[in-house]
Amino acid sequence: MMSFEYLKRRFKEYYKDNREKIPLVSLFNQREFGFIPWDQQIRMIRHMGFANRENLIQHLINNGPRHVYSSGSLYINPENQDMKNKGYQGCDFIVDIDVDHFYTPCKEDHDIWYCKECGKNGKGMVEKCPKCGKLKLKKLNWICGECLNVAKKEIIKLIYDFLIPDFNIDIEKIKIAFSGHRGYHLKIEDNDLRTLSSDERREIVDYITGEGISFEILGLRKMGDNIFGFSTETIGWSQKINRKIEEILKMSSIEIETLLSDKRRFSLNQTFIENFLNYKNNFLNTIKNNNTNNWTLVSSNLKRWYNFLESIVEQIGIEVDVPVSIDIHRLIRYPGSLHGKTGFKVQELLPDEIEFFNPLDEQTEKLDPIVFVSKVQTIQKLEIIESNVPATKIKGETFGPYKLGDRIEVPHHIAVFLLCRGVAKPN
Ligand SMILES: [Zn+2]
Ligand SMILES: [Zn+2]
Repeated sequence: MMSFEYLKRRFKEYYKDNREKIPLVSLFNQREFGFIPWDQQIRMIRHMGFANRENLIQHLINNGPRHVYSSGSLYINPENQDMKNKGYQGCDFIVDIDVDHFYTPCKEDHDIWYCKECGKNGKGMVEKCPKCGKLKLKKLNWICGECLNVAKKEIIKLIYDFLIPDFNIDIEKIKIAFSGHRGYHLKIEDNDLRTLSSDERREIVDYITGEGISFEILGLRKMGDNIFGFSTETIGWSQKINRKIEEILKMSSIEIETLLSDKRRFSLNQTFIENFLNYKNNFLNTIKNNNTNNWTLVSSNLKRWYNFLESIVEQIGIEVDVPVSIDIHRLIRYPGSLHGKTGFKVQELLPDEIEFFNPLDEQTEKLDPIVFVSKVQTIQKLEIIESNVPATKIKGETFGPYKLGDRIEVPHHIAVFLLCRGVAKPN
């Protein structure tokens, strides 16, 4: 395919031009590497190891792979084909936050699906066809600043609401990267965490997602006709829940009503919502100061509290891609490499760089993942080969939406992006 050859050349050039800028991951020669080349049939070449950075860079320049990965795990023989003979030494703790895995309202604008069974199509995040119920959906999920911002906020929450206060993780050991597509990775490089088994990793993941949380253990109980909630002095989850409730109670009545009535977030009965609104000031006082933690004024029905608190937990918990964190043999994208679905760079970030990082319109040049912006204004001619292509807003400029057969002229970085997405061909 013409565009694959073209993209491969561009990727090779990128690695050649940026050979000094590709970062070195820690304990480099103990990592396994994997590559996906520009073939029609997706295949992963893995079990590779590199003695030094220069060898890796040379490999990237020679092959211009579509995707580049290295392991979170450390091995004595990373290039051994057999997992058992690699000499496993431990694995970094990795968290992947990708908007593919959770709902954002903007998906109604930019994620397109088409049912191969009955032909129905629509927009938004669906698991199965709403008409025929079948799972055979063709999806075109798009990149957007809004959902990337949601993913970014999840990373910030993960660091400052969980990893630092509850796990006492040293911020220096946290490495973050924009994935180059729809999310972020976070890696903790710590010798104690490296020894954790998959089961132990799952326990950490359950904690940060709020999976299987017990409200009784946190202190929720019914005594006679009274409901007692969580104490204000405790830390961890009960503190997070109390703070979240406090945050809601400080909103205006209209905002509270809208939030609590939002069926995507809560499924509450009307009496609960009304009491919550009518007693919001009293309840705020209780949550903030009162040592009795008597929550009865809103509801004396334990089940309704459960209902409410489960939704609160969902909003506090972090949206992580669970298998990535518990699988100790996963490969993750190599920092500084290019993502073959976008042509964007996997951009490493320090914790203090993430707050203002804006992947689709980054002002700091060294952090800018959009590397194919040409210095001289070059326009490329493409033809759209997908029935519907959502609008793409990159660097403040919107391109599209497009339809099948459209002949378009776009700047170089947009051309690379559309070719990588497989929705256009050179014209
Ligand atoms: Zn259908
Ligand atoms: Zn979006």
